[in-house]
Amino acid sequence: LKSDDTPVQSGQNLRSPICCIMGHVDAGKTKLLDCIRGTNVQEGEAGEITQQIGATYFPAQNIRERTRELKADAKLNVPGLLVIDTPGHESFTNLRSRGSGLCDIAILVVDIMHGLEPQTIESLNLLKMRNTEFIVARNKVDRLYGWKTCKNAPITKAMKQQSKDVQFEFNTRLTQVVTQFKEQGLNTELYYKNKEMGETFSIVPTSAISGEGIPDMLLLLVQWTQKTMIKRLTFSNEMQCTVLEVKVIEGYGTTIDVVLVNGVLHEGDQIVVCGLQVGSNCDLNQSIVNTASDEGAPSQVTWLLLELALHEIDIVESLKTIAQLVIGTYLHHKEIKAAQGIKITAQGLEHAIAGTSLYVVGPHDDLEDIKEATMEDMKSVMSRIDKSGEGVYVQASTLGSLEALLEFLKPSAVNIPVSGISIGPVHKKDVIKASVMLEKKKEYGTILAFDVKITQEARELADELGVKIFIADIIYHLFDQFKAYIDNLKKEKKKEAAEEAVFPCVLKIMPNCVFNKKDPIVLGVDVLEGTAKIGTPICVPQREFIEIGRIASIENNHKPVDSAKKGQKVAIKIIGSNSDERQKMFGRHFEMEDELEDLSVEEKRLLFKMKKLFKIF
Ligand code: GDP
Repeated sequence: LKSDDTPVQSGQNLRSPICCIMGHVDAGKTKLLDCIRGTNVQEGEAGEITQQIGATYFPAQNIRERTRELKADAKLNVPGLLVIDTPGHESFTNLRSRGSGLCDIAILVVDIMHGLEPQTIESLNLLKMRNTEFIVARNKVDRLYGWKTCKNAPITKAMKQQSKDVQFEFNTRLTQVVTQFKEQGLNTELYYKNKEMGETFSIVPTSAISGEGIPDMLLLLVQWTQKTMIKRLTFSNEMQCTVLEVKVIEGYGTTIDVVLVNGVLHEGDQIVVCGLQVGSNCDLNQSIVNTASDEGAPSQVTWLLLELALHEIDIVESLKTIAQLVIGTYLHHKEIKAAQGIKITAQGLEHAIAGTSLYVVGPHDDLEDIKEATMEDMKSVMSRIDKSGEGVYVQASTLGSLEALLEFLKPSAVNIPVSGISIGPVHKKDVIKASVMLEKKKEYGTILAFDVKITQEARELADELGVKIFIADIIYHLFDQFKAYIDNLKKEKKKEAAEEAVFPCVLKIMPNCVFNKKDPIVLGVDVLEGTAKIGTPICVPQREFIEIGRIASIENNHKPVDSAKKGQKVAIKIIGSNSDERQKMFGRHFEMEDELEDLSVEEKRLLFKMKKLFKIF
């Protein structure tokens, strides 16, 4: 670590705040990150920015330089700012570290031309749920008609350069978005007019293309966090570390990308992370949680890696041949202090779960206690599995996103029961687990997959077995898809039932109209009540409801028809309902005087029996 990472001026030992970027697709999250990261590297200023694994680290010195024009002469007490690299994904934003949100603050990006969009609202709900502080980046100001570019300028300076028309449009759009936030129950205000920070959320107008407002955004993030979160940001030696991603990297095998929130990690540390065992005994409802290392013993950190900044790669390339220190673009470290994004290589990380905590076993620690602590993270999600064993199968990229999805599905929200969970891409094994439900309840033979990939094999198997897989990047889109599917199933069932439905009718056999006594019975009948239809099962109520068969065809005046209404006199052909049984015969099983009726046999038999019973008593 570099010396300026330790904030000597303040006397306070603060760690860097951790920030994530959220917002609707295309709002400019990636571009914004590129902008705050890229400009400096290209221009060679304070080239200390290191693109970490899963996060970008901006040292205080860099922030000072970039905010110089704001004349804040930023009194920075924090060593820098760590921005989570994968913007937009709830998977990262919703991560926790020992109970509290992993991110100290979020940037909610809103496209100035669009205002609040569905994913913005979803992000907002997540922020509310986690109680996470955030600022709003009102991005793409350069798209206001007639905007004059003021590259990387503070926003007030840039606004002064704009025409009255641009300023007018800017204000109109600002009012619109403030109203929209109000509709979501939040007060917002331009950051430099905001007198009630903490109660009113700050809006920073930005352009990720030309950089206006970026200095303001950086300064606001740092000043706001160090002012209001001193306790939270005070560096502690107690390790706090969260797994972001589990990745196979050539030359390293399975690695985990982590965010070290507090504490110091060393090469050779004994680590324990939570893993999902996928053994054959893994029952759908009891995903077994264990330590990542197969034997249940802690793994040993082989290497601690930091990703190299672009400008460092050339130098390292030449070093590579001299000492085998580097593979790819990672630099090995003996120890790394929080807050940082780090790649760890160790044995037995294959089943590690993204989103759970990583623990280090100290010399005086009890391994069993630590193992229990690693499993704590999974307990909350495991408890959401429906006791009845019936429900859909849900899958998400990290524990954080899985929690968000489960929260959405819970009984007090949309109420979709869950029978199984998994984290990571959808594999064949997941489809097999989900398919168990097909027999119990067809609609639950479904996988709701949030922000994950589906392997080709899994997709093929799902098609074969009839397991439905719904995928989405927005949680409530999953719900919409599932609901549409259920509604469709219901409609189909109704249709089937309609085809099965019996229309009640009472028929009277007309004198001299027994055209055929059996195989098939053909009779002339008078429809006394209701409607006789093709398919209607017919019985003789006077004779204990003997079923004589179903109407196979109807003729009215020698013309075939589908049905005959009350008052019509028609010829009907009756065939046996059950081909195994011998058909009932006119003259033996029923007579001229008998009335014929439609049949919902079981019910009528029951009724008949009850009538008899009543007579006895
Ligand atoms: P994300 O989906 O939120 O990560 O959005 P991107 O960063 O990929 O941006 C979406 C599109 O908007 C891209 O074409 C960007 O070039 C463009 N864009 C992003 N920020 C700005 C901005 O500030 N101004 C303008 N004019 N375009 C932008």
